[in-house]
Amino acid sequence: MNTRIQFSDFSLSKEVAKAIEDMGFEEPSPIQALAIPLIQAGRDVTAQAQTGTGKTAAFGIPLIEKIDPAKRAVQAIVLCPTRELAIQIAEEFTGLLAHIPRITVLPVYGGQPIDRQLRALHQGVHIVIGTPGRVMDHLERRTLVLNDVATVVLDEADQMLDMGFRDDIEFIVKKVPQDRQTLLFSATMPQPIIDFSKRFQNRPEFVRVQYTELTVPQIEQSYIEVKDREKLDVLCRVIDLWDPRLAIIFCNTKRRAEELAGKIKARGYRAEELHGDMKQSQRDRVMGGFRKGLIDILIATDVAARGIDVEAVDMVINFDVPQDVEYYVHRIGRTGRAGKSGRAVTFVAPRDFTKLREIQHYAKVKIPRIPVPSQGDVARTRTLAMLDKIRKTISEGGLETYTRIIEQEAEGDLTSVEIAAALLKLQMEQGTAESPEIRDAITFPDTGAEPGMVRFFLGVGREHKVQPKDIVGAIAGETGIPGKAIGAIRILDSYSFVEIPQEHAAEVYEIMKERTIRNQPTKIEPAQGQGRRSSPQ
Ligand code: AMP
Repeated sequence: MNTRIQFSDFSLSKEVAKAIEDMGFEEPSPIQALAIPLIQAGRDVTAQAQTGTGKTAAFGIPLIEKIDPAKRAVQAIVLCPTRELAIQIAEEFTGLLAHIPRITVLPVYGGQPIDRQLRALHQGVHIVIGTPGRVMDHLERRTLVLNDVATVVLDEADQMLDMGFRDDIEFIVKKVPQDRQTLLFSATMPQPIIDFSKRFQNRPEFVRVQYTELTVPQIEQSYIEVKDREKLDVLCRVIDLWDPRLAIIFCNTKRRAEELAGKIKARGYRAEELHGDMKQSQRDRVMGGFRKGLIDILIATDVAARGIDVEAVDMVINFDVPQDVEYYVHRIGRTGRAGKSGRAVTFVAPRDFTKLREIQHYAKVKIPRIPVPSQGDVARTRTLAMLDKIRKTISEGGLETYTRIIEQEAEGDLTSVEIAAALLKLQMEQGTAESPEIRDAITFPDTGAEPGMVRFFLGVGREHKVQPKDIVGAIAGETGIPGKAIGAIRILDSYSFVEIPQEHAAEVYEIMKERTIRNQPTKIEPAQGQGRRSSPQ
């Protein structure tokens, strides 16, 4: 039974409830569950919460509900330390306001031309999200008036004080009418924050998420640093590399779980999603398939995964860093059950590092970083796994008939080592042919290459400081084909050509489309034929 707080417990307007639904949030994060009811009740709140905990929506949801769109005046102001954060908060608010377009939000920060901000302010905005310096500028120019502000939020207050914004913040807060609601969010609560709270808040409620006894089971944990847009490719490699029998992949929202399930099913994996909105019968069907091994990969949200009890899960992948330390512990606890060994890999995008540190701190674990597995690693591991199978087959015996055939062949012009190597190659290539990236083998018309080769155009050249070793390194490293198999390379000012053996061409094309060489997108395309000197332009 789910006794946790739901968004429906907050009596939200239907527009905001719909926006939350669209954003794929299944249930309030712990800090939201604590802070939203207090803020809705009109209390001043001091919340200890870090980035990634859902703190923006914790103040955003009740703040938005208080705005009167018909009143053309700034009614809420959020102060934060950096322009990046101002933009992020504005984006989150825009999401929450998707069904109330009449409420307008304006981020104001230094570095952006002030004219644009002036025009927008002049037209009337309801919520200003700004860095203290730039907000001061506007106050001094009288282009921003705070007489109608009912809510002030200080986000990442500790950082703003560290950056020397104390006087500016005090100046700004004093411009807001006394009967305002003042919300203070801070990752840490040093004395200056407490002093600040005493001076500017009215009987504040203090909230923080308590972590009690978070012990992480003995599971091999690691993280991979990966940008959001590369997560899908890296995920496929991780699965191919470790080849789990049963894996659970966690996403932070049901929308992400659904999207990911669609994408990885399209790549040929046996995966299904599981999220809180599904009917019990659908969930039972998916779980049944997973238990019976008809589905190898379950893509789940935290809510949906509660209560899953499957013993043989050998891998958990956090496609998103969980919002809460407790979730991390629960997620990875899904593997390594009943004394079996388990592995947990977490994908960490650049903005998730604070969260990762927090997880390590509270869960008292050290999570080591591992590199993105290369296509070469995948190929090597698969070959090793095949050799293991071969050893097992030999030890099981029953090879007499086959041994005789090979002995006969080996009397001719083939050695038994050659035969074994050829068999292994065939076997491994068969595996690769199943790999979704290259299943739809592409045939290349005349690209002007040597016989047996395909010539590719690359949109990188001398002006990008590209040398042959960069091209060989990138292609060999990313695709796992041996460097010496790569043929002629010609580097011109703004582009280059490289020849790839026909049997690897489709694979190289598919993989390198998504990769970079010397930080430049490869822009790889099959070259046009007729003479090896023509350029594709
Ligand atoms: P924040 O701590 O505000 O930086 O939020 C981190 C991320 O979590 C943002 O991408 C939010 O959109 C997302 N988020 C906020 N609340 C929830 C929720 N209840 N469920 C899932 N994701 C959320």
